[in-house]
Amino acid sequence: KLHNQLQETKGNIRVFCRCRPLSKSEVVAGCTSVMDFDAAKDGDLGIAANGSNKKSFKFDRVYTPKDDQVDVFADAAPMVVSVLDGYNVCIFAYGQTGTGKTFTMEGTEANRGVNYRTLEELFKTANERTETNTYCISVSVLEVYNEQIRDLLAIETSKKLEIKQASEGSHHIPGIVEAKVENIQQVWNVLQAGSSARAVGSNNVNEHSSRSHCMLCIMVRSKNIITGECTKSKLWLVDLAGSERLAKTDVQANKSSHIPYRNSKLTHLLQDSLGGDSKTLMFVQISPSDQDLSETLSSLNFATRVR
Ligand code: ADP
Ligand code: MG
Repeated sequence: KLHNQLQETKGNIRVFCRCRPLSKSEVVAGCTSVMDFDAAKDGDLGIAANGSNKKSFKFDRVYTPKDDQVDVFADAAPMVVSVLDGYNVCIFAYGQTGTGKTFTMEGTEANRGVNYRTLEELFKTANERTETNTYCISVSVLEVYNEQIRDLLAIETSKKLEIKQASEGSHHIPGIVEAKVENIQQVWNVLQAGSSARAVGSNNVNEHSSRSHCMLCIMVRSKNIITGECTKSKLWLVDLAGSERLAKTDVQANKSSHIPYRNSKLTHLLQDSLGGDSKTLMFVQISPSDQDLSETLSSLNFATRVR
């Protein structure tokens, strides 16, 4: 039955695997890469552990340490744009702490990630459609930590928020800040505000980010000028807590939940954006190092099952 359920949603979930480079400190410590990228172009990732212990995994895409933010976003862009056509979309980064989830989603000022590039792409496409459509785009930034939701754009970020279920079964958070963004210049400021609020109030930033989910919700309200039809759709961009923090029993995948965090606030928030005709993209982030092999295999096995 589970197999059938996965088959049903198969077309709607794509899995991209991204491997970061070995870090300087790993090189200094004598760590070596266990990755075989010979067939990465075909979506095949090989693991060559201990010479004989070979395994291979198949994904929609495999990005090697040489692939940059532009390469990665190019493949995500069509899915992102479908939010302007009324689809709900969910993109999340999954993997062990230190494998590049935040690098992929948030990026840096010099190497901007999926979050910024998504909004850039939405504005670009919206501007090409001004003869047929008007769009209103707003952004919310949330953090889920210890099963509590914080609004990272609120002035008072320590206020705890609750999820309410609306009549149609969709979920919303009363009181959440939805920052209207009208151009890309406003976007980086909003994203930076959210990102700096994340660190406030925690005495160990790394520990905090490895245990919390950072979630960006882009709301798109669209009106077709010709037909008068209005649509409202959501695009979630999620930087998940480190996968090593998961109890292994929580790692599961089924129709209602492609995300491995059961009974959580996260699952509730994303519920309307998973399954049905919504589109899901998961980045499984991995380390190339022999030292991380067992966590890497556990992430790759999970990611293979959802697909
Ligand atoms: P995570 O969010 O999964 O804990 P980070 O995004 O913080 O991991 O990445 C850990 C470190 O590795 C950071 O210093 C980051 O800049 C670097 N890094 C991750 N992915 C890449 C990449 N593809 N290319 C270069 N550096 C990367
Ligand atoms: Mg991170």
